[in-house]
Amino acid sequence: MGLYRDEAIVLRTQKLGEADRIITLLTRESGRVRAVAKGVRRTTSRFGSRLEPFTHVDLQLAEGRSLDVVTQAVTLDPFASRMGADYEKYTAGTVMLETAERLVVEDKEPALQQFLLLVGALRAICDTGRSASSVLDSFLLRSLSVAGYAPTFEACARCGLMGPHRAFSPAAGGMLCSTCRVPGTASPSVETVVVLGALLAGDWAVVESAEGRHRREATSLVAAYLQWHLERGLKSLPHLSRQA
Ligand SMILES: [Zn+2]
Repeated sequence: MGLYRDEAIVLRTQKLGEADRIITLLTRESGRVRAVAKGVRRTTSRFGSRLEPFTHVDLQLAEGRSLDVVTQAVTLDPFASRMGADYEKYTAGTVMLETAERLVVEDKEPALQQFLLLVGALRAICDTGRSASSVLDSFLLRSLSVAGYAPTFEACARCGLMGPHRAFSPAAGGMLCSTCRVPGTASPSVETVVVLGALLAGDWAVVESAEGRHRREATSLVAAYLQWHLERGLKSLPHLSRQA
């Protein structure tokens, strides 16, 4: 069995048998990896709490026939304990972990940009005074972009005409001009569209100077955009890659 080292964020854990867990990881080198941690649910486990969700760990793994096995784990950053009992941070972080797991479609396909985005967003939640909700929105837009679903907020998503435009359509990929507009689109305020562009670009001066109502409207549009792509877009990806 080959041994390898990697660093990772723990995304999720599931019970396995009496004392083990399956740990879903987003690793720096190998993308999403599911690995077995043996004896981790015993109080005497040598892994302690190092393999709990949110933890940034340095790992040694042994290649297995189906799942790899964690043989060593060293904590690099215990993000969960640093979030403390802050419900908003914890909730935002949980959505990040779930989204990262779903946007990285294949196990062991390198996904370095997704890994760096996730580490950066968890650090921003713990180390900066930024609103967890805005950090989450920015992470989601960037993570979707890396996955191939970059939204457009300035030019029309259909014809490319420069805005500002007033109609937002998750299905079309962002803003639509008055000619391309389809029924059932949302009509966010001009200020909200500016916030969306700033969240995607990481322009925090613009995000933080925006009014609460525009930030909240941006949050609801990001959620709609994410939901549309998670429900409809991503399902087709494994199918497409099998045909290629
Ligand atoms: Zn157009």
